[in-house]
Amino acid sequence: MKNSFNKKYFIDLISELLTYKATLVAVSKNRSIELIEEIYRAGQNDFGENRVQELLKKQPSLPESIRWHQIGHLQSNKVKQIIPFVYLIHSVDSVKLLQTIEKEAMRAGKKVNVLLQAHIAQEESKFGFDLNELKDFFDTQNDKKYHHINIRGLMGMATLSNDTSQIEKEFKQLRQLYEEIQKDRPWFDTLSMGMSSDYKIALANGSNMIRIGSALFDH
Ligand SMILES: *Cc1c(COP(=O)(O)O)cnc(C)c1O
Repeated sequence: MKNSFNKKYFIDLISELLTYKATLVAVSKNRSIELIEEIYRAGQNDFGENRVQELLKKQPSLPESIRWHQIGHLQSNKVKQIIPFVYLIHSVDSVKLLQTIEKEAMRAGKKVNVLLQAHIAQEESKFGFDLNELKDFFDTQNDKKYHHINIRGLMGMATLSNDTSQIEKEFKQLRQLYEEIQKDRPWFDTLSMGMSSDYKIALANGSNMIRIGSALFDH
């Protein structure tokens, strides 16, 4: 892994995203502070980390205006530490975690923005709610129970595969549910799908937030 960032790729990606009105989250896990500063100076403001420990280590050394996204699995006992500064938690994958976030956000006097992570891939290992669990959660108005959480949308990861039609199918399913939920929830505005290998398919299928690591940094 090279420790540099591909400026040409970055500029091209940003202009591509303009047509979709989509946001780039630069995934900075395993990247140095210096490298994050470099891409920040090039105009990038949203950064994603997947381990809390790494996020806590980096955040104090970097500009306060950075919007930090927690994109990896979040353990309940780590919630409290990120509440003060986290911009968006993409990886809420259980009701228990929602309850912990609610409790800690209340203590901190904050309202925290989150996405619910959907399990759309074929792999067993990926975290998240099943689509029918999510549908049920919103149909029964369970989202309205949390006064210190804004549930802003959904996140999903497609199967790691070369089978474009499989990936497309998974993104389409998530988008369909997202749009259904959105009908009577105008604040539901974020659909986080797409990584380096599949972001074009994600954008074509309604994503408005992509999470890109390797394509930006390894070249
Ligand atoms: C690492 C990671 C990404 C970025 O993946 P790349 O393939 O490097 O673009 C996106 N989302 C999550 C949840 C990740 O952990």
